[in-house]
Amino acid sequence: MTSFDAIIIGAGHNGLVAAGFLAKAGKKILVLEASDRIGGAINLAHIVNRLSPAVVSGLAIDPNSLAGELLPTIVLDPDKGPVILRGGYGEILEGVTAAEAQGWAGMRKKLLMQAAVLKRFLAKRPPRPGDIAFSDMVDLGLTGLGLIRNGRDEARDFARMALMNVADIADEYLTDDRLKGLIAFDATLGIHLGPRSPTSLLGLYYRLTGEANGSPGGQFLPKGGMAAIASALEKAAVKYGAQIRLDAPVARILSERGRTTGVVLNSGEEILAPVIVSAIHPVTTLRKLAAPGEIDTHLSTSLKHVRTKGDAAKLTLTLDKIPAFTGVSAADLKGRLVIARSIAHVESAFNPAKYGAFSPDPVMEITLPSLLDPSLAPSGGATLSAIVQYAPYDLREGWATGKPKFLAAIMDVLERYAPGISASVTSSELLVPPDIEARYNMPGGHWHHGELQVDQMLLNRPTFAVSGYDTPLAGLYLASAGSHPGGGISGLPGMNAAKHVLSRRPA
Ligand SMILES: Cc1cc2nc3c(=O)[nH]c(=O)nc-3n(C[C@H](O)[C@H](O)[C@H](O)COP(=O)(O)OP(=O)(O)OC[C@H]3O[C@@H](n4cnc5c(N)ncnc54)[C@H](O)[C@@H]3O)c2cc1C
Repeated sequence: MTSFDAIIIGAGHNGLVAAGFLAKAGKKILVLEASDRIGGAINLAHIVNRLSPAVVSGLAIDPNSLAGELLPTIVLDPDKGPVILRGGYGEILEGVTAAEAQGWAGMRKKLLMQAAVLKRFLAKRPPRPGDIAFSDMVDLGLTGLGLIRNGRDEARDFARMALMNVADIADEYLTDDRLKGLIAFDATLGIHLGPRSPTSLLGLYYRLTGEANGSPGGQFLPKGGMAAIASALEKAAVKYGAQIRLDAPVARILSERGRTTGVVLNSGEEILAPVIVSAIHPVTTLRKLAAPGEIDTHLSTSLKHVRTKGDAAKLTLTLDKIPAFTGVSAADLKGRLVIARSIAHVESAFNPAKYGAFSPDPVMEITLPSLLDPSLAPSGGATLSAIVQYAPYDLREGWATGKPKFLAAIMDVLERYAPGISASVTSSELLVPPDIEARYNMPGGHWHHGELQVDQMLLNRPTFAVSGYDTPLAGLYLASAGSHPGGGISGLPGMNAAKHVLSRRPA
């Protein structure tokens, strides 16, 4: 029986990052992955907009190996023509009036400034009440200073705006429905909120804390596609000595008198380690894998109440020709295309989801990955990836009959924006949240492994009873998107958790 300093459960990108940082510190690390490939839900993603530079440099990954040109966002509108955002989240705007461009610039500047203030809290452990470290106080002080430095009005505006809904902010700065629709969509993607839901602006702040190529709010697709990120993280972890085993689902976490001792695989094999870093959903970790006697009733109940039902579906199409989206140039087809015509469009797509139904006119973002990597499609053809909101996890009629109807609704929308596209489809795959749950071992199929709403953030992530990567079981730590700061391809939960483990105990 081999033993390790630490076992990482899950080779999603956060598990690989945690493995890399721990192995770099000289620990003997084993990563156990249930499926037959690394990367987890990275394989669903199609845009990078928040991979942390601290993760890339901390693991000594050559940033050029992951670089890609900044991609524009094109907000589609077959009647008025598209709005195009270039640079980092619309540094340059095309397709709107000069007055609208000015309104956008003012709003963009303010939101990026506010997001930069919040960003300070992402790459570190969230503060714990009763356990506030000196560095937390310094951060809080610097946050206040950062705001005041920008002027008293900015501090006041931040206090006013932070918990508002994105629709009201859009109405304050913008008149163009296409731009309003875009920020309404971006603020709510992967979250069970509509643009008029209180606090929905937080989702947009979260997005704008991300960056690409040093550009806040930027986005790109790396050479080699999303898989290149997982592969770079794997190489980094292996370079530092970590071992990775695929097809090795963990069935149980072993513990003795409140301290972890190892894991048991589904096969019955036992592997020992004093430290377990669980980079899978926190609820699975604590309610399924940990011994029931180790988790008290209060914690078990609060975990049961973590909201984690996904809303995003993923459609992949193979097309026998490159689709023509009305008003979009061949060069811009390489960007992110967004179908969200207005705030009302996004809100009315959300409304049925509250009652277990989907809209006949869903909102979505689309990429054509084969235009950046032609090996992905047959010659002359294309692949299309769409992330479609809102696909309620608990569809009232059931997804067995609902899925073909939802696919038909999505294709109807696509046909309106890219006439002729339906006839060129040679294969399609639609994954709705229960499919994502099953294929990616993600309860609820949720983007963030748990709603990223104000009551499930910071010291309440995943829940107040377990946050800051610790658990009541000594030696067991949490490291997935379900921990602070949340989901998306950032690597931050994995990096923060690994640093916390290293600060805690000599493994
Ligand atoms: C439809 C959809 C589209 C998305 N698109 C984007 C996007 O374009 N850009 C973006 O930044 N983010 C996107 N996201 C979000 C992003 O994919 C996730 O937030 C992120 O991948 C989570 O990473 P993770 O490492 O924390 O967990 P995961 O990626 O879920 O990895 C967990 C790993 O653990 C494994 N595992 C689970 N249980 C066990 C077990 N018992 N034993 C061993 N292994 C186990 C799983 O198989 C998996 O490999 C999208 C999410 C969804 C649902």
